[in-house]
Amino acid sequence: MAGSTPDTAMITISAETIARKLKGRRTSVGWICHCPSHDDKRPSLAVAEGRHGRVLVYCFAGCKQWNVIRRLEQLGLWNSFKKGVRLDRGLYCR
Ligand SMILES: [Zn+2]
Repeated sequence: MAGSTPDTAMITISAETIARKLKGRRTSVGWICHCPSHDDKRPSLAVAEGRHGRVLVYCFAGCKQWNVIRRLEQLGLWNSFKKGVRLDRGLYCR
């Protein structure tokens, strides 16, 4: 049975989707996941749902958010940079 996963343009990737793929744990403010951008022994990537459906990511181990997002993109877990990327209080958002 084929799923109904959209594969391009209008895909909306929620913080929860990212967290589930990265086997994240729910926290009071979002999720904490293994960071795809470095060899993460213990989960250090915070993923949260921002306002207006934007997703916030932050690696406590010090990865540049740019790099984290690049990796998420490669994993198909991030909408492309084309529009809406902003630096918001140190967090890249979409
Ligand atoms: Zn990291």
